[in-house]
Amino acid sequence: MPHTLVGLIGAGLQRSLTPLMHEAEGRVLGLDYEYRLLDLDVLGRTAADLPELLATAEAEGYRAVNVTHPCKQAVVPLLDALDPRAVRIGAVNLVLFRDGRRIGYNTDETGFRIAVERGLGSVAGQHVVQFGAGGAGSAIAHALVGLGVRRLDVVDADVGRAEALVATLEPPPDSSVDARVLAMTDADEVLATADGAVNATPLGMNDDPRQAFDPALLPRGAWVSDAVYFPLETPLVRAARAAGYRVVDGGWMAVGQAVASLRHITGLEPDLDRVRAAFTGFLAEGRTAGDRTGREAIG
Ligand code: NAD
Repeated sequence: MPHTLVGLIGAGLQRSLTPLMHEAEGRVLGLDYEYRLLDLDVLGRTAADLPELLATAEAEGYRAVNVTHPCKQAVVPLLDALDPRAVRIGAVNLVLFRDGRRIGYNTDETGFRIAVERGLGSVAGQHVVQFGAGGAGSAIAHALVGLGVRRLDVVDADVGRAEALVATLEPPPDSSVDARVLAMTDADEVLATADGAVNATPLGMNDDPRQAFDPALLPRGAWVSDAVYFPLETPLVRAARAAGYRVVDGGWMAVGQAVASLRHITGLEPDLDRVRAAFTGFLAEGRTAGDRTGREAIG
């Protein structure tokens, strides 16, 4: 059985569950699958070392690398070709090494699409309010536009970020989207008539008790999605569930992202529910990729 070697390049990766998800599903798919953390902090490197790290991974026979903060934009000029989704978003989180070429993909966008389709079905024609226009927010906004939302309001504490994101949004052929930047002060009023709302800010992460918005402002029957997944039950997710809204927690995007990456890397079809079950199991057991030893070496 050929060895499939994959890595994750970025900073602060020790709590990542991506390696565990890939290896568990890779095994079920019948592969000898190894996923290494290439944590810049642990390796004593910075994003400036990305060209060397990428070249070494390629030379050492890695099939692919996932790329995360702070390298998602910096990796783009180092690639030979980009998937159209990565071009639209301007960020890459998966690089495949194929026949001497490096091809970049954005599976964060696909991950959110998978999460929405699994949790909500179609959102075509809907009005969505999104909080946060950073890395996750960019992938989420492009996914929502690709899924055919009619109107997307983007709110960010940094208005320039929201404006820059909205300027890049392009609806699919034969459709249109009314994408707007919304001032923080106007968000409450707009939520009252929205079909759904997404948190793509870090609020609610770890022990942060804050919520980007009050879900109770949404009409009955609306939905709430959170990108944050440490913890899975954020204050926003808890409040939205308690008020009876449909909820897609941040774990679904993380799982969708892993499934989309595994598909590109292996050419096989991972099972979404099986990966989700593995993911929630790792969370419940408090397992992280950083617990493993001897998996962090390159060059
Ligand atoms: P980021 O720093 O790139 O962007 C966060 C944005 O939120 C910034 O533009 C900031 O100005 C804005 N913001 C902060 N507080 C705000 C507020 N109160 N109201 C409006 N806007 C506010 O961060 P990121 O990489 O986009 O990550 C955001 C969160 O998403 C993190 O918690 C991260 O862990 C999570 N995330 C989840 C997944 C997943 O697969 N589920 C993937 C990527 C990131």
